[in-house]
Amino acid sequence: MSDAPEILESYLNGAWRRGEGVETELVDPVHGTVLATASARGLDLKAALDSARKHGGPALRALSFAERAKLIGAVADVLIANRAKYEAIAVANSGNTKIDAAIDIDGGIGTLKYYARLGGSLGGATFLLDEKPVRLAKAENFQAIHLLAPRHGVAVCINAFNFPSWGLWEKAAVALLAGVPVLAKPASSTALLTHAMVRDVIAAKVLPEGAIGLLCGGAGNLLDGVTAEDVIAFTGSSETAARILKHPNILARGVHVNIEADSVNAALLAPGASDAAFDAFVKEVGREMTVKAGQKCTAIRRVFAPADRAGVVAEALLARLKKTTLGDPRDESVRMGPLVTRAQQAAAFDGIGKIANNAQVLTGGATAPSIDGIDPTKSAFVAPTLMRVADGAGADAVHDTEVFGPAATIVPYQSEDEAFALITRGGGSLVASVYGDDHAFFARAVAALGPSHGRLLMVEPSIADAHTGHGIVMPQCHHGGPGRAGNGEELGGLHGLRLYHQRLAVQGSMNLLAALQAKAYALH
Ligand code: NAP
Repeated sequence: MSDAPEILESYLNGAWRRGEGVETELVDPVHGTVLATASARGLDLKAALDSARKHGGPALRALSFAERAKLIGAVADVLIANRAKYEAIAVANSGNTKIDAAIDIDGGIGTLKYYARLGGSLGGATFLLDEKPVRLAKAENFQAIHLLAPRHGVAVCINAFNFPSWGLWEKAAVALLAGVPVLAKPASSTALLTHAMVRDVIAAKVLPEGAIGLLCGGAGNLLDGVTAEDVIAFTGSSETAARILKHPNILARGVHVNIEADSVNAALLAPGASDAAFDAFVKEVGREMTVKAGQKCTAIRRVFAPADRAGVVAEALLARLKKTTLGDPRDESVRMGPLVTRAQQAAAFDGIGKIANNAQVLTGGATAPSIDGIDPTKSAFVAPTLMRVADGAGADAVHDTEVFGPAATIVPYQSEDEAFALITRGGGSLVASVYGDDHAFFARAVAALGPSHGRLLMVEPSIADAHTGHGIVMPQCHHGGPGRAGNGEELGGLHGLRLYHQRLAVQGSMNLLAALQAKAYALH
């Protein structure tokens, strides 16, 4: 990267285009240096959507699933070839350590490769068959099948700042496999990485023209140009999600919107858990608090422990957090970098302040930590912050407030029923993890917590070193949670393709339905 801030352009309507002026400065959150600027002001977003529908969609839909899967694999290969460059960008623009950067970059590449493999197994099909033929009338010849047909619009992929790579590719892999072109809209503050990746993919010409576009800068009047054929795949805060859902054009046209929003995820230490389960619990909570400086939608925010063990849980976590070296992630000894912007730092301090009204702050807190050689007036650091409430039922803020940073709160519980009830007060979460040894307890936890979660991770000692982590989203598994988490449904293998397809019943003669079935991959 040169010293002059790069001006990020958007790839719309088949060309790189520059917005007017500066909407957002992209800043290094360690030193406060401006790395790039972004603006989409004055760009014709309606024309970009029209063009993607006209060129990208037909080109992709002319291919079979297996042929599209090859394109997705080729995208992954382009990204693999340029990986070193991406890591440097993630360190500079997102304050990522190498491990943080790997979760984002390799998470994106891994998801592309997974869908390339999965798509290859769908062969020459162009539809998905959801249900086998059913007879509808006396005449056996008149029957119906349920098909999933690729939508003819654009996948408008709006992403949050914390995953500029994974956030894009986990959506784009599925949309492209479905035959739907993508317009990527990364969060402005960390758009450098998405921009570099999309630029490389376009330069490599591995996708048909119109299959992928990029909007760098504010959303402007993007939502005015969306039609009923399009899908909005949104990841971000509940506030922005609500604004999108209430947008007059989205409401009037009944546009399909998938929301992946925020979440106050929980980890639960089971009553009577063995020392091995206890250790797995402490290790995972400590890791979740500090990886990506806690900026994961899936990170553990509430730490539930039996009341008589809350003290030892606190001690063990404090001992772990003490070892977390904060600083410039370019220094190999640093284990945790800053938040991505000073605005995020202020929001995290605000949230910590709200929870601390009813909680004891055991370490960290709502002021910038002092770090050798780093100017606290220019950087965006938040120290690992562990809090503890005395009365989980009375502490509303801990169940309502998502601190998007390295902060978590210990909530003691007296009984299993109380623990389940308190966890459910999160109002719908992406994930909860449970640590123990007793399968009967795990089964009761699944029944009690299942309806308010998108994913449950059950950790017993035999998988303590084998599991993929509370916060890591695996493409094989459902991603999305009910309630405040947005009711979204992404990934989950082939299930993820449903978002970009229309489910329909086709009624007709047996011969016609058989011909259609020959073009479809049977899901069941
Ligand atoms: P945000 O402020 O809601 O922004 C998300 C995206 O929406 C950005 O690309 C933003 O663009 C765009 N946006 C803002 N206003 C818009 C509008 N009126 N119309 C269309 N798009 C608009 O969220 P964030 O601060 O980037 O991300 C943090 C939040 O995301 C956290 O709450 C976290 O829990 C959540 N998150 C959830 C998941 C999940 O999978 N459930 C994953 C990651 C993060 P600009 O940046 O240009 O404003």
